[in-house]
Amino acid sequence: MTQTIEELFQENKVPKFRLKQLQHAIYKDLITDYDEISTFPQWLKDKIKEAKIPLTTMELIESHRSGNTVKFVLKTHDGHFIESVLIEHKDERKTVCVSCQVFCAVGCKFCATGANQYRRNLTTEEIVEQVLFVSRYLKHQEVRVTNVVYMGMGEPFLTYKPVSESLLMLNSPDYFNIGARHIVVSTSGIVPRIYDYAEIGIQAKLAISLHAPNQKLRSEMMPISDRYPLDDLMKACDYFVEKTGKRISYEYVLIGNVNDQIEHARELVELLIDRKAHVNLLVYNPHEFADYKMPMEKDVIAFRNYLKTRGIEVTIRKSMGDDISGACGQLSGKQLDKKKNKAVFAQREFFDGDLEIKDKSKSPAKA
Ligand code: SF4
Repeated sequence: MTQTIEELFQENKVPKFRLKQLQHAIYKDLITDYDEISTFPQWLKDKIKEAKIPLTTMELIESHRSGNTVKFVLKTHDGHFIESVLIEHKDERKTVCVSCQVFCAVGCKFCATGANQYRRNLTTEEIVEQVLFVSRYLKHQEVRVTNVVYMGMGEPFLTYKPVSESLLMLNSPDYFNIGARHIVVSTSGIVPRIYDYAEIGIQAKLAISLHAPNQKLRSEMMPISDRYPLDDLMKACDYFVEKTGKRISYEYVLIGNVNDQIEHARELVELLIDRKAHVNLLVYNPHEFADYKMPMEKDVIAFRNYLKTRGIEVTIRKSMGDDISGACGQLSGKQLDKKKNKAVFAQREFFDGDLEIKDKSKSPAKA
């Protein structure tokens, strides 16, 4: 087993301040090789290299761009592939969407991630490293990651410890110094962790993958709703708002003839009218893992208008490229092509948090 850097420092009686210097070199200078550490003596760099201690636990396999979106495929030390996404907005913002699990155990019926077998939670380091890889990618532009959304593979609140630890690291001036207001965690509704998150102590935001305006329909689409019913979820949301003063984003993927009719919009208004809420409507794009249809353009517009005219803040989120579609507010599944030993992406669902694109009259169904 490879020695850790701490063990190596101890063995060689390296003073503790060197760890701080290393941290600075990795997260501030964004080095990709130990040789680039300007503050280390050569003998120390040689020792680290001799011990073959990797700079990161994951490896970047590939990155590819689609419009203003860049996808990064990373391989974990135990051979899993995960994906992170960078969105380069028209303004200065650079948003990273991170994964927190290898696939997902929640099993929402419309989601390709949930259709794949859950493997394991990512560690704190693995979550933070996703931002690190993207930061390195941006280094040549001399810009930094400004926003992070936990909307990739997995349910963040089923792996709360690494998620909360990574979030604090991203926010810390010693690491990425990303403003808490620019960090969003999205959950399918793991109620106890919403209470915990309300107490996290920094002003990070919350998004709820709602997708249905009543318990019956939500339960059909999202089995997690049987465990954490809608009433309990909304009570937890109210607590979060009371505690933090922060508005919650409610993600609602419009699926043809499932949850996209005016009767659903009416129920959604009833649910949210007295709440500090913003609704993000996403247009479902069909994929091989679920038997659901894309909504009709007229229904998307009617749904949006119904909400808007009744005082609900609502935005239709734009697709981030032809191969990416707005659906569950999460990245969705990818298949691992074992023969080629590379990740092959199925339909990807992506939403970039409450960060982008004001509502336009143009239908996203045509986007
Ligand atoms: S929508 Fe989110 S919580 Fe549901 S299965 Fe997909 S990744 Fe998991």
